[in-house]
Amino acid sequence: MRYLRPLILCAAPVLLGAAGSEPLSESFDVSVPQAPQIVATNGEKAVRYEIHLTNFAATPLAVRGILVTDADTGKTLRSFSRRPLQANLIPLTGAKDDPGAARVTIQPGARAVLYVELTGPVPRRIGHTVDYIAACETCPLRLEIPTIMVNQTAPVTLAPPLAAGPWAAVQSPDWPRGHRRVVYTLDGKARIPGRYAIDWVGLDDAGRTSRGDPDRPAETIGYDAPVLAGADARVAAVRDGMVESASIARNPDHVLGDGSGNYVALDLGQGRYAFYEHLRPGSIAVKVGQRVRRGQAIGALGFSGDTTGPHLHLHVADSLDPLKAEGIPFVIDAYTEIGRYDDIGALGSKPWQSTGPTRKSREWPASNVVVHFR
Ligand SMILES: [Zn+2]
Repeated sequence: MRYLRPLILCAAPVLLGAAGSEPLSESFDVSVPQAPQIVATNGEKAVRYEIHLTNFAATPLAVRGILVTDADTGKTLRSFSRRPLQANLIPLTGAKDDPGAARVTIQPGARAVLYVELTGPVPRRIGHTVDYIAACETCPLRLEIPTIMVNQTAPVTLAPPLAAGPWAAVQSPDWPRGHRRVVYTLDGKARIPGRYAIDWVGLDDAGRTSRGDPDRPAETIGYDAPVLAGADARVAAVRDGMVESASIARNPDHVLGDGSGNYVALDLGQGRYAFYEHLRPGSIAVKVGQRVRRGQAIGALGFSGDTTGPHLHLHVADSLDPLKAEGIPFVIDAYTEIGRYDDIGALGSKPWQSTGPTRKSREWPASNVVVHFR
């Protein structure tokens, strides 16, 4: 079969508007991979989600501001400009803009991810307006993103994953390589399995994380602590037998897929799975298909996989794979918050800042709080 040679080869066109006079300007391709979902945290309700902006144009597009509004009331929920814009709209490639430039430039062929956290009254529908410029510095352009519906599904409630304490709930939404901002693209889809992941680190009352040699995993305060099933559930996946490094500093990098170390995944029903990761080799006490009871010991805290110290990694996701899944929120049914690390770099060397005790019920632990499970 012969292909007909086109009479006109398309070149970069001058795009004209419907009236034929107003030039059109290219904007972004927009996607919202995971609908915002509501979770109670830090005494209020919060939603988190991401907006992906891809530049298919041949010239850079520079975002100057993004306004987030309640689509029902028009009320502003969040305004990203200048530093907050640069801190939360992250291009995957391209040089960073100078802070004084008050913009985020997305190069041709590049994508940027806006990481959004909203707190306070939860909207039913969310609107977004993106203010940007293209080739013309003095020609402001605006993109209205179609309204996004907030997923009203209540988060799953888990029993505490560990006993006693104190435990630091290590998580922060803005760490460049923290769970929240780590995107894995597998089987043709980019996902954030650790969107709500928490790393639980054992402490003593002075805030130390080690009883002796800080390089020895077994001398870490939380090491070998029983890990407890968060619900009556079926064991859906187990991986055991991955060895641990005897040195924390010399823990080697693992291949993609092995970073979770030894783990147990529990099927919580309704397409939700809880992942308990980095368990001590040989400690896993359950088998795939087995029913477990809420609070039952399923393994022990360890140092397997990619980790900078013994801890329990816990997240809930929508699929039975540590990486090929979207992270979804969960709450812990009851715990006592006793403090918080304002500077998580002090973990292990200094005590936390005392804030409590405050009894918490059905909340997702806030960033870097210190808790007791009693
Ligand atoms: Zn983790």
